[in-house]
Amino acid sequence: MLTERIWTGNALRNFHYLIACAESGEALAVDPLEWQMCLDAARRRGWEITQILNTHEHGDHTGGNAGLKAATGAPVLAHAAAAARIGGVDRGLRKGDVIKVGRTVELECLDTPGHTLSHVCLLAHGDEPALFSGDTLFNAGAGNCYNGGDPERLFETFTTQLSRLPDSTRVYPGHEYLSRNLEFTLDREPNNEDAPRLLAEARHHDPAKATVTTLGEEKRINAFFRLQNPAVIARLREAFPELGEQPDARTVFIRLRELRNRW
Ligand SMILES: [Zn+2]
Ligand SMILES: [Zn+2]
Repeated sequence: MLTERIWTGNALRNFHYLIACAESGEALAVDPLEWQMCLDAARRRGWEITQILNTHEHGDHTGGNAGLKAATGAPVLAHAAAAARIGGVDRGLRKGDVIKVGRTVELECLDTPGHTLSHVCLLAHGDEPALFSGDTLFNAGAGNCYNGGDPERLFETFTTQLSRLPDSTRVYPGHEYLSRNLEFTLDREPNNEDAPRLLAEARHHDPAKATVTTLGEEKRINAFFRLQNPAVIARLREAFPELGEQPDARTVFIRLRELRNRW
């Protein structure tokens, strides 16, 4: 599997992805808002875009569908429950569906509600597993829930699906928010051992070359995976004194999401 991450440089800080078969050069474009950039990147690599996928229905992920489809003839894939809202969807996706790209790439479709209720993540298995996580999981952060989402469902997605993936899984999200997310982590857990080094790098990085984290790293630097951490809980109780000494993971997650909304 070949992966090209495309940094758009737009105000929303979108990342797009091309996932290609090394043998055939066929490629899947993920959330190609700036579709011309995707087309240019594919041409540079000698790839042909044969499928377009939206992780969810928000306009900053679907707004390039029509342009890219007109240019390539590629079908559009999206969560079956989001298809009507997106329009022009050729294949509605469900949990467990497999998306084939060329001869060598197979991507498993995960049904990951929370940011919206009809959001898919793509999982590539194999020696170098990768997760294309849309706006569900960001590097060091979690998606917001105030545009059609539900923090309870996001919690379920994190704990029952994402946290169970292999630690070596590389995380490819829909936006570049690393510094801001690490600052939140350090606000919530000032003595976190791993976030300061990554933040020092991220503050000066070219977003086009931003670090790709793994799930193992996420468990060390992402507050939304550190729900049982005593420091996170102690600090949370300063903001929410009504929490007991041992709040459950769900409560911690929801409260963190609430604080991150105002951060
Ligand atoms: Zn979104
Ligand atoms: Zn987005």
